[in-house]
Amino acid sequence: MNVPLLDLVAQYQAIKGDVLPLLMGVVERQQFILGEEVGRLEREIAALSHAKHAIACASGTDALLLALRTLDLAPGDQVICPAFTFFATAGTIHNAGGTPVFVDIEPGSFNLSPAAVEAAITPRTRAIIVVHLFGQMADMDALLALAARHRLTLIEDAAQAIGARRQVGGAWRMAGELGAIGAFSFFPSKNLGCWGDGGMMVAQDDAVAARLRRLRTHGGAKQYHHDEVGYNSRLDTLQAAVLLGKLPHLAGWSAARRARAARYTEAFAGLAAICPPRTDPANEHIFHQYTVRAERRDQLVEHLKAQGIGCAVYYPLALHLQPCFAHLGFGRGSLPVTEAAMGSVVSLPIYPELSDAQQDAVVAAVTGFYR
Ligand SMILES: *Cc1c(COP(=O)(O)O)cnc(C)c1O
Repeated sequence: MNVPLLDLVAQYQAIKGDVLPLLMGVVERQQFILGEEVGRLEREIAALSHAKHAIACASGTDALLLALRTLDLAPGDQVICPAFTFFATAGTIHNAGGTPVFVDIEPGSFNLSPAAVEAAITPRTRAIIVVHLFGQMADMDALLALAARHRLTLIEDAAQAIGARRQVGGAWRMAGELGAIGAFSFFPSKNLGCWGDGGMMVAQDDAVAARLRRLRTHGGAKQYHHDEVGYNSRLDTLQAAVLLGKLPHLAGWSAARRARAARYTEAFAGLAAICPPRTDPANEHIFHQYTVRAERRDQLVEHLKAQGIGCAVYYPLALHLQPCFAHLGFGRGSLPVTEAAMGSVVSLPIYPELSDAQQDAVVAAVTGFYR
């Protein structure tokens, strides 16, 4: 049986009745730039994320870039971030004029280690980008306390974590709500994906939100007046319409992903060669990815591909080892937990439309490899 890593066609078949009329509404009104759907989506994402403000933009990468621009980084200013993440987390630090400082992760959650963050703080540190990797929030309690103690801005890269939540101080707090700015991505393969590129920033502070809104349209609040040099980074109205059609399904999709994850973890319980992902008990995970550590990972990947089972390695080369960041001086061995993860992880198919039979085929292929 062929099982793709992700099946967006199956999702489309299930939701097209919700999305296509909204899309056609935009086409009929011909309001493609900042049409009313963009504002509606901003209000809905703000509510979902417990944020006072939400500002839509052209991608998750731009959401991070504009967030970092609000820091007015000077050359040599440092921003701490994980190396075990998608490239945009650190690429945007560079493009906003700062220097990424890579720190190690915790082995169980793959998220930032607060102790490693603290050890990396210098007088030049300005901010921390916390990534909620694979759909599970990082240890925000510890990271927020650190940021407050050292007067650092905390930005949440919540590209993989829309709708994820964590109990902080006895209350459920949403991904994106606790940092100065939270960044979401609507890249098609994300848990809430549009039909192209899209992103969203959330913030609680009025002045920060106003600045993000200006940065999104060439740095001016008033048309043809520019307070600073910004970007052309708007979310298309057509994409906002797609997202409005999909958003009511998100909670159900996340629950279905959790059920799939639990089923995998149960199935792999007797298999010593596979170490299932660990969910921090304080978290409600949305399983953007179901990522295991596997013995003989590269051979397992070959075996799964030969059997028609989709899988992927996120991420095969951590950011501190990328050629473009070689000048920063992080060599092999500098982030041991990250490097162990990149050599052993593999992500398996997980999506709401995955059937029991498909999931059984994935499990059979994995167990078959080791037996
Ligand atoms: C997807 C992703 C981004 C970037 O989002 P785009 O919409 O693709 O630009 C940033 N950070 C992380 C962790 C991501 O997974």
